[in-house]
Amino acid sequence: MSPAPGTRRWPLHPPPGPGEALTSWLGRLAALYGMPAIHLLRRSLGETSALLDDPQAADLDFDPPAEILQALAGHTGIDLGELRMTTIAGWVPWLADTLDPIDGQEAFDNYVRQDSVLLAPGEADSSWVPHWVPWIRVHDKEWRTEFRACPACATDPDRGTSLLAALPIMTTCGEHGCRLQTEVAVRLAALDRDPVPPPPMPGPVVTMDRLTFDGLTTGMVTLPGRPVHVGVWFRLLRTLLDEVSMAGSRVSARSAATLARVWEATGRPPRGGLTVWRPYERLDFPLQRAMLEAAATALRLAAAGEITARGTLARCLAPEPHRDVYEGDRRAWEQKQAQAELEAMIDRARDDPGTARRLLEMLTVGSRTIAGFYGERQYLVRLGIPYGLLPDHRALGRTDLRL
Ligand SMILES: [Zn+2]
Repeated sequence: MSPAPGTRRWPLHPPPGPGEALTSWLGRLAALYGMPAIHLLRRSLGETSALLDDPQAADLDFDPPAEILQALAGHTGIDLGELRMTTIAGWVPWLADTLDPIDGQEAFDNYVRQDSVLLAPGEADSSWVPHWVPWIRVHDKEWRTEFRACPACATDPDRGTSLLAALPIMTTCGEHGCRLQTEVAVRLAALDRDPVPPPPMPGPVVTMDRLTFDGLTTGMVTLPGRPVHVGVWFRLLRTLLDEVSMAGSRVSARSAATLARVWEATGRPPRGGLTVWRPYERLDFPLQRAMLEAAATALRLAAAGEITARGTLARCLAPEPHRDVYEGDRRAWEQKQAQAELEAMIDRARDDPGTARRLLEMLTVGSRTIAGFYGERQYLVRLGIPYGLLPDHRALGRTDLRL
């Protein structure tokens, strides 16, 4: 977008890092000018602006007022679409279909129970979840993202903290594999001249968090069965977290045995010790960590063929069974080819309208809502494909999309 009249471009304006949170980027930016982030923000909005009194501005990483992002885009020249991705709201519809908890039950049924991973389709019975947003603890429409950061990343002033580290979706740094820590712990570690290295994290958790990190930074996650869009990955992961939290008595004997096998491999009690079922978002953090470990372990066991996933998304988890090594090599080669073709197509789409259009058609074939369609379109913009080359939904004949 073009800056508002009178907007002065700041001389230094490094862009947000991949997957970085807005407050983290603002903090790094303000440090370049030797001022606290709040002062820089006041300056960007004009000293008389009341925007910072807006309750929506209390948590800038969640869903800040659009005017704040517009002002920052104007002063830094950074694309508004890119800035939006530093906030949770910018990740709708991939991270959540909606951030309105009023839609809880429908959102829960669609997001968590529509597909299945370990369990056979339709095996999970219904649960009453009237007030709900995926990954976020909602209490009377008040929420606040929490700060968690990687101690290794924190020692580098040019590196920010990851937006998704604020949600119970990853517990380790996607690059260093260290356990993410609270702000106080990170600051204390920075003061310590002889820091104790953080405890090692279970291998499957580190592997799983790398996948989430790839999704956050590239939009795609490469699973052993096939590559999936990050929106599919978030749903797969959330469904899996739901399944490992279920009581064996509420599923078939075969699924109960699979769940028992997963928990046994984590070395923890069944369901991580959970007694009364609650949705993942309402568990306390140690239990969430146990569930994440079980989900990561299930992914590892499924990929190794030690358990058989039977859900609608099961095919993503493991390579298809093959008889000989040659067959395995051929599949790996085919997958590589498909990935290379997709990359070449994205490259061409940056200046070829026909390719850009086809890519958008491909990506939105499963979209059912207008928001979903434009979410995918925004994804292509982030990959460097100019807005002008991407038709709107009407031009693609998608009159079937719902509001
Ligand atoms: Zn790190």
